[in-house]
Amino acid sequence: MVSAVIVAGGKGRRIGFKKQFYKIGNKPLILFSIEVFKSLKVEDIVLVVPSEDVEGWRGLGVKVVEGGNERMHSVYNGVLISSGDYVLIHDGARANISPEVVKRVIETQGDCVIPVIKPPDSVIYNGDYINRDLVYLVQTPQKVKRNLFLKAYEMAKGIYPDEGSLMSGVLGIRPVFVEGDRWNFKITYPEDLKVLERLKMEKRIFFGYDIHRLEMGRPLYLGGVKISEDFGAVGHSDGDVIIHAVVDALLSGLGYGDIGTVFPDNDPKWEGVRSEVFARKAMELLEERGVSIKFLDITVILSKPKLAPYRDKIVNSLKTLFNTENISLKAKSGNTFFDNAVQCYALVEILLPV
Ligand code: MG
Repeated sequence: MVSAVIVAGGKGRRIGFKKQFYKIGNKPLILFSIEVFKSLKVEDIVLVVPSEDVEGWRGLGVKVVEGGNERMHSVYNGVLISSGDYVLIHDGARANISPEVVKRVIETQGDCVIPVIKPPDSVIYNGDYINRDLVYLVQTPQKVKRNLFLKAYEMAKGIYPDEGSLMSGVLGIRPVFVEGDRWNFKITYPEDLKVLERLKMEKRIFFGYDIHRLEMGRPLYLGGVKISEDFGAVGHSDGDVIIHAVVDALLSGLGYGDIGTVFPDNDPKWEGVRSEVFARKAMELLEERGVSIKFLDITVILSKPKLAPYRDKIVNSLKTLFNTENISLKAKSGNTFFDNAVQCYALVEILLPV
């Protein structure tokens, strides 16, 4: 049987935060690796995290153990509580882990099997160009025979950067090389996270529109903010056209049907309800799908009152409701053409897991 140890014990000193927990969409980096191992029927998975994070990461159906000061100590802690004859040791920061590479490593026989790639660039060593055909870059997961790894660790006199170097340096076991994948890269610098986000998430743009008639004797709400006490939108709910346009764009774009399908206006449940309820429900659906909103571009057409005094309040309210910092809100007066209506056009840019 083969186990997996995902090493995520780093404190993020170089990058400034614990990158292994950085979220792409709503998924922390280490979950990408856990999912790949699970999909390949690796049943025994150990997650190694900093001591202060151990409790927080329980409940994923994997073992959790605290890391050590050096990578090799963290690996040892993980291997110790793994149960397979062989263990796949993987960097938690290699979130774009390829199932094909993992399969190759699992299926290749050897006491130590490591994925490697050739460097795409020329290589200079100590001032001289060297034959790059003789150079490999080493990736993970690296497979080790469990009892031999434990023996090598206990015999080691110094610190080894990875499993292959430990096994060959201490026991003289020459690793078996298999082909890695250049996209199985390790998140090291902040810009690597941007690359990863582009690989894992797809950008989509949805459009929404809403219009409500205005009438005396009722309040007007826009983006969850009360704009007028006595000249407001006629509607089944509070007639908040900004929220309706955004929610309509999101729901229909993601395939839930339009706002009227999800919140039917013949359902007394939604009668007189504040539209924030629709926004929250839509955000719950987005959360389940791992979708995040990147940008909201909103145009409101309203003759009176003027929106300018409420602008910041509306933007702040939308930031909270739709969990995004990037909002553009434009107001058009409509030159009295639309005195008796309030309208909203909304473009919504989202990131969706690929
Ligand atoms: Mg509406």
